[in-house]
Amino acid sequence: MSQPEPAGIVIIGGGQAGGWAAKTLRDRGYAGRLTVVSDEPYDFYERPPLSKAALLDGNAPLSRLFSEEVVAGLNIDWCRPLRAASIDAPQQIVHLSDGRQLHFDQLLIATGGRPRLPDARWAEHPRVMTLRSWDDAAKLRQALQDCRTLAIVGGGWIGLEIAASARRMGADVTVFERQPALCMRSVGADVSQALLELHQQQGIRVQCGCGDIQLEDRNGSAWIGSDISDPQPFDLVVVGIGVELNLELAYGAGLKVDAGIVVDGQGRTSHPAIFAAGDVARHPTLGLCLQSWAYAQNQAISTACAMLDAFASPYDDVAWLWSDQYDVNIQILGVPAGGMYHVVRRTPQSQVFFTLNADRQLVQMVAFNDARTIKLGKRWLASGRVLEPQQLADAEFSLMALK
Ligand SMILES: Cc1cc2nc3c(=O)[nH]c(=O)nc-3n(C[C@H](O)[C@H](O)[C@H](O)COP(=O)(O)OP(=O)(O)OC[C@H]3O[C@@H](n4cnc5c(N)ncnc54)[C@H](O)[C@@H]3O)c2cc1C
Repeated sequence: MSQPEPAGIVIIGGGQAGGWAAKTLRDRGYAGRLTVVSDEPYDFYERPPLSKAALLDGNAPLSRLFSEEVVAGLNIDWCRPLRAASIDAPQQIVHLSDGRQLHFDQLLIATGGRPRLPDARWAEHPRVMTLRSWDDAAKLRQALQDCRTLAIVGGGWIGLEIAASARRMGADVTVFERQPALCMRSVGADVSQALLELHQQQGIRVQCGCGDIQLEDRNGSAWIGSDISDPQPFDLVVVGIGVELNLELAYGAGLKVDAGIVVDGQGRTSHPAIFAAGDVARHPTLGLCLQSWAYAQNQAISTACAMLDAFASPYDDVAWLWSDQYDVNIQILGVPAGGMYHVVRRTPQSQVFFTLNADRQLVQMVAFNDARTIKLGKRWLASGRVLEPQQLADAEFSLMALK
């Protein structure tokens, strides 16, 4: 068996969180060995464009996090494409899939997730696809070229973004959602309704409350049916029913896992030399895994700072994510828990949905084409400002007065 190689700080995962952690470590003066284990062959890249520009534009370049020069300047020992197979936490060793062993001073787990599928039959069907990586996007873009009828299974953010892109490419799209409303886990009923109308206006068929969705293979073609509709054939089926987090390494290492890897505000796990960031790291105060671009970036930056300085400020950003569908930019601030008042503000250009708690403080805001009000909302959330529902709903009232 090979001897463990001294690898300094090791990052497992070359995505958004792994990339920002590596850059922050160097920016903050870490000059030791920095090893990144990544099972993808590419430099760090971000995923939001995969369901948007990368599908629409065949010439779209890899959505790199940093230029080639910046990545070269990070002086990384890459282990790629290679998988981390297991972690021996007491010995501080990562075992790689090629048999090598890396001894780490500190370790960051930033392994993200993989698309969930209803069962193995879906994974094997040639007309069923999922979207997580750059390679997935290239295959999906190719398949959409000849696709007349597309079924999207799952009416969450990624499913709806793929629906919007495919519609723009000319496909006839049907979205099947198991729950009674779209994006139900992350927004309230009024926002779900606005999303439904947005997609129906673009000619998309949306079936909510479908219950279990069935795939039938009929001589190689894919038929999709549900509790409320008979099976129909589709040229292509894209499944977007959420993500299985890549938690196997954390479980194997004996780290505390509850929904995601349990971390404190500095990204530290239940082992003092092991940290976690991005999708796999459970939000330190909300107790759930956010799976958003901003969290993957900013929580990774905070964690990298804490790896070098035990007194670094803990991560305390408010939850924020966005989605682009057709020409609508949707931004979601906060989580809907504890909502008591639901207020909508409509102008000819925008819609903003506010959820306030019993004390009339903001808990969530969802803005369709209104980035300016989201900026105000970040301040209101941070300060716990008390808001008047009538003022929020009145499009004539300037919200800037509430700065
Ligand atoms: C199509 C798509 C569109 C999105 N759009 C938006 C959006 O509009 N707005 C938004 O806020 N968020 C969006 N997101 C979510 C956002 O991209 C993720 O939250 C973010 O990528 C998480 O970063 P991460 O570094 O934690 O994980 P990832 O970016 O998934 O990176 C993890 C990396 O680790 C690798 N890995 C896993 N296990 C191992 C192992 N054992 N050994 C080696 N490598 C391993 C994976 O292959 C991957 O390369 C989108 C995501 C997708 C997939």
